Formats: sequence, structure tokens, C-alpha cells
Amino acid sequence: MNSQIELDSIIEVINRAEKIGIFTHVSPDGDAIGSSLALYLGLKQLKKDVDVIADEYSRCFNFLPYREEIKAKGAKEYDLAIALDCASKGRLFDPKNSFDNSAVTVSIDHHSSNTYFADYNYVEENSPAASKTLIKILKRLNISINKEVGTCLMSGIITDSGGFRYNTVDDETFEFAAQMLDVGVNISDIYYRTFDVKTKAQFELSSIANARLKFYSNDRIALTYVTSQDLKKVKAMAGDHEGIVNTGRNIEGVEISIFLREDVDGTYKVSLRSNDNVNVSEVAEAFGGGGHDRAAGCVIDLPLDKAIKKLIKEATRRL
Ligand code: 5GP
Ligand code: MN
Repeated sequence: MNSQIELDSIIEVINRAEKIGIFTHVSPDGDAIGSSLALYLGLKQLKKDVDVIADEYSRCFNFLPYREEIKAKGAKEYDLAIALDCASKGRLFDPKNSFDNSAVTVSIDHHSSNTYFADYNYVEENSPAASKTLIKILKRLNISINKEVGTCLMSGIITDSGGFRYNTVDDETFEFAAQMLDVGVNISDIYYRTFDVKTKAQFELSSIANARLKFYSNDRIALTYVTSQDLKKVKAMAGDHEGIVNTGRNIEGVEISIFLREDVDGTYKVSLRSNDNVNVSEVAEAFGGGGHDRAAGCVIDLPLDKAIKKLIKEATRRL
């Protein structure tokens, strides 16, 4: 449903707007923060009055340029509100409900479960990152993708593609990375900071999760969890659980990896990953969640043992 008309309209409404708010999903990851800051810097080049609004994010992104400009709350309304990397209204971090109050809304995304919730929607399902989808829009707006904009975009692309490893990575992605090296983006440093460096809490939390990992369905499903007590014990901060779900996926023979993280309200935030065959976004959708074919998530409000039982049942059906 991505017509050229939709893209043309988005360019037109951005050019016309003066006061613009940029929003992204709750628990923002590298693509959420990277694409938001890239668009913020780009719109600043166009002399727009821009706010970027986002929730707390992992400390590993504390190298991104202009991150101190991110606001926890924005204005009540904007001429234009843009949602990045967000599949649905329910997932949007918007403490003041300004998205709905704004005159015009746009969504730029790459989730196959996107609900087309804005006035104008540009969704590339096969894009490795919202940051990659955004490039086309920045170019159409004649925004210069300099070292700062490029650092934000590459951080989104690298983290959301597992370091160029997922099958959504195409020739354009590598060509863009090569261009970014030319403008001075330090790709190896982004890799090091986002994949290699771990906080102490992150290390301790993954040790707990590794010790608890169990196999199901002839070892084709790996599952582990952390409780809110574990999170308290290791003094976990935003993002310290990142990466735990990948351990299960990287075990030979495992097709689906599941990780549950208990929230303070007793619900479980579930992360699902798959390797080759299973569309885990379907598993997540069975619990009201969503995501991508190979990475999805949902929230389950059940006791741990029941949540695990239901998840294994839904995942096993799709093996
Ligand atoms: P993660 O496991 O890293 O939190 O999320 C993996 C993917 O699933 C992301 O693209 C994220 O947007 C999506 N996702 C995670 N949790 C939810 C959820 O509760 N609902 C929906 N619709 N998508 C989710
Ligand atoms: Mn993304």
C-alpha cells in the first residue's frame, strides 16, 4: 500500500509544517532512538521547530549526537506529529497524547504488523530498520546525511539488523553503510558500543537467565525468564535485558527463542526470536502483540507457569 502518492504527501506535509513532534515506541531500542534523532537533526537543517519525545533508553546509546535534546514530554499538540519505528497507536510513547491532538499525523515504519494508524503511512515491511526506510524521506527533503545524521541512522540499522545479519539486509543497506564511512561515521565504534560492551547489571542478568534456560519441543524451542526481583537484585536499568533472547536462538537446533521479563505490575513482557521458518509475529499476535517475522513481542498478564505453557503451545504449533 506504499504508493508514490503517500510518499509525496508526506514530503508535502513535512515541508508545510512548522512545529513538528517526533515520537517512537515504548521501551525504545537503537532503531527507535537512532531514527528519531536522525529525523530531528534533519528537520533542524530545514529550520523547523522540532521536539523529539522518547522514553528512557539503554545507556549503550549514550554516544548518539544530540541525545540530550530528547524530551520526556512534548507540547500538547503539533502542526505535524511523526511516529517512527512504531507498529500501532498502543505502542507509541506519548505521555501527553499529543499525537492525536496534532493537526496532521505521519507514520514511518518497517513492522509487518503496522496498523496504518496515521493520516499518512509509509511502511516498508522488508526494510531492516525504520532508520533505513527514513533515508528515502531525508533524501527527498534534500537533507544532508552528514556524520551526525549518519551516526544515528547507522546505529538504528546496525542494531535492528543484528549487525547486518538478518535477511532484510540488502545491497542498498551495504551501499549506504559504505557512503556513511565516507562521511566519517565510525561503524566499528557503533558495533563495539552496541553489541560488545555490557553493563555489570546486564552481565549478571544474563547469567541468571542462562542458568534458567530450558528446552522444549525436541530442543527446537529455548525459553528463559527473569523476575522483577532479579531485576531489582542486579539494579537493572533501561535496556539491561537486551540481548538475553539471542542466547537461546544461537544454540544449534533451536528455531524459536523466548524470553519473559516480569514487570513491576506482575505482567510479563515477552520477546520472541526465530531462525529460519517460524513467523514469530504470529505467535505474538496470538497474545495481542506483534512485530516482525523473526523478532516479535507481546505482554502477557498470567502467572509465570501458565504464561510459559501457553507460549510453548502457540510456538510449537508453528514449528
Ligand atoms: P523486543 O523483543 O526487542 O522488545 O521486540 C521485538 C520486536 O517486536 C520489535 O520490533 C517490537 O516493536 C515488537 N514488539 C515487542 N513487544 C511488542 C508488543 O507488546 N506489541 C507489539 N505489537 N509489538 C511488540
Ligand atoms: Mn525497528
